[in-house]
Amino acid sequence: MVQEQVSYSAVLMGSPILLKLFVDDQALAAQVFRLIKHQENLLTVNRAQSEVMAVNHAAGQQAVSVCAPVFQLIKQAKAVSQLNGCFNFTIGPIVKRWKIGFQGNSVPPAAELQRLLTLTDPADVQLDEQAQTVFLRKAGMEIDLGAIAKGYIADVVRDFLRQQGVTRALINLGGNVQTLGAPDEAGQGWAIGLQQPFAGPDALIGVIHVSSKSVVTSGVYERYFELNGRRYHHILDPATGYPLDNELLSVTVICDHSIDGDIFTTLLYGMGVRQGLAYLGQNPQIEAIFVTKDRQVICSSRRQFSFQLLHQDYRLNAVTDSTA
Ligand code: AMP
Ligand code: MG
Repeated sequence: MVQEQVSYSAVLMGSPILLKLFVDDQALAAQVFRLIKHQENLLTVNRAQSEVMAVNHAAGQQAVSVCAPVFQLIKQAKAVSQLNGCFNFTIGPIVKRWKIGFQGNSVPPAAELQRLLTLTDPADVQLDEQAQTVFLRKAGMEIDLGAIAKGYIADVVRDFLRQQGVTRALINLGGNVQTLGAPDEAGQGWAIGLQQPFAGPDALIGVIHVSSKSVVTSGVYERYFELNGRRYHHILDPATGYPLDNELLSVTVICDHSIDGDIFTTLLYGMGVRQGLAYLGQNPQIEAIFVTKDRQVICSSRRQFSFQLLHQDYRLNAVTDSTA
């Protein structure tokens, strides 16, 4: 007998959250949503108060102690930010200035961006492992975990569900999906839609099938505004302070841990298709699907997922192992 999936939903972190289980367990679903809320309360920078905002408020003044998991997450975000890729978690002052996806957005003058860029050196985040404190050396610095937090939280939810004995479940934190097991043993795994950019949440390019994997997408269509015929989206180039501009509209990463997926969507977005595929060829634990402005869907090798193209205006361009 095929067991029924039961879906639970909520709006948290400014996003629709979906939990799928195979038992009708309201209490468990409520625990999961409470857990997400708790994590949001620690990590958000979209409100005046959180552990991360306490660090930001004390920039240039003093070190602030944070709880162990937040310290570890900041430590990881700092390490990734020092890879010289496009991921930089000290980009907060620039994110706040653009306000992309929020009320009051505008294009900052170039000189202002130049000034704000001086506040975005990850080396200026001083971590004290012993005291579990974080100090932002310059006044005006702000850390922003927006490119990593949902992935981290999706893994926290997965670990919690496992502890509760759950073997099959899916959590979708507004584009960050983490799965446990598969819906049924004989099937293809969980079906996760690859969204068509700028066509609304229900318009799909295709469907990704996975089991016990995370699927994370970063797309320019998620948060943006338009002004004088130009589109300004929320993934910023830490070198210039402007939205990253290349051939891509979205990057989806398939891998074990959602935190890695969240980090790599940003890193691969910055690398672009050619460099990204070369990187993925050397790092088989991470896989990706690139969607380009000229409507190509480019998959790295498909060891950890299968993909079914649904939209006839897009071309599927799979890379074989030997060309990756
Ligand atoms: P994601 O949804 O994972 O693509 O992350 C996007 C969010 O991360 C943005 O809304 C910003 O809060 C933040 N962000 C933007 N650009 C960068 C960047 N280059 N490095 C790290 N975080 C960024
Ligand atoms: Mg991300």
